[in-house]
Amino acid sequence: MSFFTKVLTEITDINLRSEPPGKNAHNDESERKNMTEQSVEPVKVLVVDDEEVILDLYSQILGPPLPANNDHLRTDESQNATAGEKNSGIALVPEAPAYDLTLCDNGNDAIAMVRQARAEDQPFAIAFIDVRMPYGLDGISTAEKIRTIAESTQIVIVTGFNDLDPTAIERRIPPANRLLYLQKPFHPFEIRQFASTLSARWKAEKMMHTMNRDLELIVEKRTRQLQKAYKQLEYHATHDFLTELLNRRAVLDVLKKEISRFRRTDQPISVILGDLDHFKDVNDTYGHSVGDAVLEETAARLLDCVRPYDTVGRIGGEEFLIVLPECDTADGTAVAERIRIAIGQAEIDAAGKKICVTISLGVATASAHQMINQDSLVAAADKALYQAKKEGRNKIKLNTKINFISAA
Ligand SMILES: [Mg+2]
Repeated sequence: MSFFTKVLTEITDINLRSEPPGKNAHNDESERKNMTEQSVEPVKVLVVDDEEVILDLYSQILGPPLPANNDHLRTDESQNATAGEKNSGIALVPEAPAYDLTLCDNGNDAIAMVRQARAEDQPFAIAFIDVRMPYGLDGISTAEKIRTIAESTQIVIVTGFNDLDPTAIERRIPPANRLLYLQKPFHPFEIRQFASTLSARWKAEKMMHTMNRDLELIVEKRTRQLQKAYKQLEYHATHDFLTELLNRRAVLDVLKKEISRFRRTDQPISVILGDLDHFKDVNDTYGHSVGDAVLEETAARLLDCVRPYDTVGRIGGEEFLIVLPECDTADGTAVAERIRIAIGQAEIDAAGKKICVTISLGVATASAHQMINQDSLVAAADKALYQAKKEGRNKIKLNTKINFISAA
């Protein structure tokens, strides 16, 4: 299925979804009704001419149909008002489309009507404008002004004289493809042809505009959905699903960036590696749901112990890495002690069980000008953690002997 087929399918889906529940059976019928209503919606036509008889003629040609038994009256009147064309046999009553006709005998009033229609967002589709009008603006000036108010209106210049310079007028009233000429005396059929053709074009453009707007709405909606999905994917790719802390890769990325900053600023940096003591016993004794609850509560307590710009990540089953930028040995050790107390001092209410756990912590700090990377700093903290476990757990150990990397 192509992209456009998909989008068009979605337009249909949206239309279907907009129907109340239980009315799906009537969707086709209501859509047909809507399309029919749209297709018979009168097209707004403005006629500007100083001669009353000409305005009457437009009214007869484009006005609402007379009852069938009066058709002969309409034809007779129209034929009398035009030059020649007697007994032409042309039916002058329009069948479709119908027009919403506005007649006007001078340019100033016409401009006011165009302005009002534009303000109501119901612009005229077509304007037939006579050139020679004795009162007020002439037809060309009127058309020029109308173009500045309603750029989409299709203008037909109507004149009985041959002294017009179409090229000059096109320059005054662009675009050329929305400006036409009609010579007087015109045949009623010409008016019908102009009105019919221009009205079909107007409706096609309107439909295209509506479809474009619907497509834009769909694209905007899809873009928002994709952005949301991308954010969710990004979150799941960087966070631990249980504790919602950063996962191993993400917290090591943070550490890498902080070490880059440390190299520029020469401010100390500390890391703490913490590991819950005998956590396997919790899982074995109480089951994994209790173990998971202990891990979640541990994560919450760790976050309570650090500054907003520190980072806490879960890097293994019950192992956590805390990155402390601009934090020296004393401060790093103080944070570790705060964590040790926060975890061990109060039992954890885990799935109805009261669980007591403790944590062992290893601290490593790099000071200004020390050549380190994330591996050497974490390895140093790991050694300290190993020592804390070895010395009986629920302890903090500090490792000041980092394996410095080469300056190369
Ligand atoms: Mg005139």
